[in-house]
Amino acid sequence: MRFPAGSVLIRHPTLGDILFDTGYGPAFFDATRPFPERLYRWLTPVQQPPDQRLPALLEKHGARPGLILLSHLHADHVAGLFDIPPAPVITSRKAWEHLQEGNRLTTLKAGCPERLRQRIQSLHPQFIEDFPVAPDALGTGLPFPFYDLAADGSLLAVSLPGHGHGQFGLLLPQTSTGPAFLIADAAWSRQALRDRAPPPDITLRRLGDAGACHATFAALCDLAQQRPDISLWPSHCPEAFA
Ligand SMILES: [Zn+2]
Repeated sequence: MRFPAGSVLIRHPTLGDILFDTGYGPAFFDATRPFPERLYRWLTPVQQPPDQRLPALLEKHGARPGLILLSHLHADHVAGLFDIPPAPVITSRKAWEHLQEGNRLTTLKAGCPERLRQRIQSLHPQFIEDFPVAPDALGTGLPFPFYDLAADGSLLAVSLPGHGHGQFGLLLPQTSTGPAFLIADAAWSRQALRDRAPPPDITLRRLGDAGACHATFAALCDLAQQRPDISLWPSHCPEAFA
């Protein structure tokens, strides 16, 4: 199967251009050149033509992100960061702390090859957990904390535990096309949410906490069913990132 590795550009009326995740980029290919990191590329072959790299995509939209949000620290969400001009980064403290643990092999197994991990470790991110907790203004009923990143309720980081460590999504209560919820890897696709079909347990266990994945996935299935007014954006969904 072919999967996109999506990155979302938010054109915020007061904060300017913001990126949610950055997809793949040259830093990924660099980090997976040596062995054993090469295994990542063998197991998940990645293609990125120049016109699909972030600099080309941003130029097409005349965008200059002044803030970058990283839902979690897997290579397919962070590598593109090193392909564009530096900007302040926000991620979760849980994801950050987990990144500091383990060795070359464990970090590879956890989805972040060593050379890429070292580049991420050189950043000085802010953490979603340090922003004020926000109310569930849209009434989603999601049983996770919401953090108000913009102090006006327009950018809500929502914990989506289970996949990786410290994953969060971004709820945008008001966009030009209605409410949108960027849910990273909490589901692979919109179809999976409609079918209530989570990935197999063996995959969930390899990439995080299977029990928490199931609970998060079930909450998002309910949301998809009950709130068709909120568009859901899984990072690897061929329908969302057609
Ligand atoms: Zn991931």
